[in-house]
Order: sequence, then C-alpha cells, then structure tokens
Amino acid sequence: MRILVVEDDSALRQQLCQQLSRSGYIVDAAADGAEGEYLGCEFEFAAAVIDLGLPKIDGLELIGRLRRQHKTFPILVLTARGHWQDKVNGLEAGADDYLAKPFEMPELLARLNALIRRSAGFASPVLAIGPLSLDTSRQQVTLNEQPLELTAFEYRVLEYLMLNKDRIVSKNELTDHLYAQDFDRDSNVIEVFVGRLRKKTEPLKLIRTVRGQGYVISAIQRPSVADA
Ligand code: CA
Repeated sequence: MRILVVEDDSALRQQLCQQLSRSGYIVDAAADGAEGEYLGCEFEFAAAVIDLGLPKIDGLELIGRLRRQHKTFPILVLTARGHWQDKVNGLEAGADDYLAKPFEMPELLARLNALIRRSAGFASPVLAIGPLSLDTSRQQVTLNEQPLELTAFEYRVLEYLMLNKDRIVSKNELTDHLYAQDFDRDSNVIEVFVGRLRKKTEPLKLIRTVRGQGYVISAIQRPSVADA
C-alpha cells in the first residue's frame, strides 16, 4: 500500500519513510506542500501523513486542495503539541485524524492502520472474508482458523485485495500500491503472486480474475464474470 508523507523536517521525514517502509508500506515523500499536491494528485494513495506547517503551500491549504480534487484517501495530520486550534482546523479542512508532535512511531502506525481499515469499511484490525482472516496489526493470516504461511509480498497482495473486497482491482493498481516508483514493474510478477495466493487458499476460489480488468476477492461466487 502506498502512503504519501508531506513533512518539511528532513530528519522526521526520513524517520517516517524508514518506519513506514519497514512496516511494508510504499512511501512517497514530499518536503513541501507544492510537491505534496503534485504527488497527491498524480498517484493513488491508501493514506497520507501531512504536517500542517509546510513551506510553499501550508498543510491546511494542501488538504483542502486535495479534497477539492476529489482525493478521498484518509489523511493523518501532524500538529505541534498544544495547538488545539490546529487540530480543529485540520479536521475541518478534511483530515481524518491528527497526532501531536512529538509522537511515538508505533502510535502513528496504529492510527494509520486504523484509518486505512476504516476507509475500506472494516472497523476491526482483522479483515475477514468467509473462512479467511487477516490480522493487519499482527500481519498474520488464517484459513479455517489454521495459520496460513505467506511471504511478505504475498501478504501485501492479499491485504490490498481484502481491503478492496468485492471491487475489481487492476494489475496496474496493484503494482502502484505494491512497488516503489523506481522499481522495475512487471505485471507478470503480480500474476505469479496472485496464482500462489489462489493455490494457498484453495479450494475456496476467493480470488477471481476478471478478464481484461483485474482481480476481485469476494466470498460471493459470481461465475459469470470469472474466467479462473
Ligand atoms: Ca513543519
């Protein structure tokens, strides 16, 4: 999953990028509001972390611009401690949650995780589709209550599909969310991973290929749109 980080403090920006990458996210970082606006409008993100005090375009204005351009991904705002007005303004501008600086990285990760889940319509950290369940806080998957061994990449493919259940996810969208921009993208690789996930979740047939469009994960069988 792809996260946008907009923070002008380079040490904090670097720390955010490192921690988020370590947690399995793909991170695009911007050092000012203008770069943040460009990235936010150009690419698809699962969520954004935006500092309020930014050069060029401030955080509040940036959030407003993203929302006016119909960018609906959840936004976590970073504020200076004690500036309660900042928090209110941030939420009014269209942010979904805020964190006062200085903060602990585990708290930021937990909040971000919760925002992403909520925006996908899941209230609990455990995503479930039929007998398949995926615990986003522990990064563990079970099938019929038995642990399912997945590689880190397989986990990320499955998590993304489950967060977008009942919706067709194209290979392009998957590669956008799973690879860094400079990574050598190859949609054949996605096919291999989806194939492996299918094998591991057999005989459930939860993941279906929609010819020419992509993949959909769902507990409901719709054989008319599936070719696999
Ligand atoms: Ca700042």
